[in-house]
Amino acid sequence: MRKPNGSRLGAASCRNTTPHRPLGNLAMLGSGSGSVGASVNSQSTGRAFFWRCFTCLAQLSNPWSMDTTISVPRALTSVRARLSAAAQAAGRNPNDVQLVAVSKTHGADAVAQALAAGQFLFGENRLQEAAGKFPALLAVQPTMRLHLIGGLQTNKAKDAVRLCHVIETLDRPKLADAIYNAVQAAGRCPDLLVQVNIGDEPQKSGVAVAQADGFIRDMVGRFGASLTGLMCIPPANEAPARYFKLLASMADAHGLAVRSMGMSGDFETAIACGATHVRVGSAIFGARG
Ligand SMILES: *Cc1c(COP(=O)(O)O)cnc(C)c1O
Repeated sequence: MRKPNGSRLGAASCRNTTPHRPLGNLAMLGSGSGSVGASVNSQSTGRAFFWRCFTCLAQLSNPWSMDTTISVPRALTSVRARLSAAAQAAGRNPNDVQLVAVSKTHGADAVAQALAAGQFLFGENRLQEAAGKFPALLAVQPTMRLHLIGGLQTNKAKDAVRLCHVIETLDRPKLADAIYNAVQAAGRCPDLLVQVNIGDEPQKSGVAVAQADGFIRDMVGRFGASLTGLMCIPPANEAPARYFKLLASMADAHGLAVRSMGMSGDFETAIACGATHVRVGSAIFGARG
């Protein structure tokens, strides 16, 4: 497999001055360094050369240049350790909790770094972005798995069924129809999760809590064993535990194994409440631009 080649942000700009630094550190130096990209040539004045060195050194010691890019392998190690600890604290087997690395807005190079560190489950919230990033990665690493975790338009159902291994956002009958037709055409069915609007928030997608039982029953009837579980995003400014517990109890009531819940800020709580899949983005890949 191709080795990740450092940062998109212009890590090469400092390579001349610090040739022995590992790529992970070089990646941290890149932000905002667009103007120092040219190599030092015979036409450079002493002043220009000074500025190149100064800019690189300034970034070395500037903490603000460090927070947009993190070492993906190191972050993964830390998130995995936190996941295991949370599972153990809840009396659960850490292997029963899957880590879905949410790579939205981050490039294929970031995904490749995670793959190299043994991460094989990924989540994307926009199909178009995933379609631009994942086919090439899947070609070299067919064991990786892509979860669609963002809202899906009916006219994209065909593409989603073709590309994704799990669609976590089934939330309305029209979309169920579109996925059903796409599955017939493709001859394969991804695993499907019903997204529940667990806090009944008007701006969020997902089936309303009051309608969830009926909708889940219909979807199990329609998709059978491919309907594997439920997904939710609790309200942002409230303690999430009671919402996680509500989703877990709904999954129990329908005999569904999968509960996709918990993100960077609350995945440990979600694990304590029975999450089988946590969707973690920024804690692995860094802040999104
Ligand atoms: C972006 C996103 C995540 C990951 O969020 P982080 O806070 O970066 O971990 C999880 N789930 C969904 C549906 C998302 O859109």
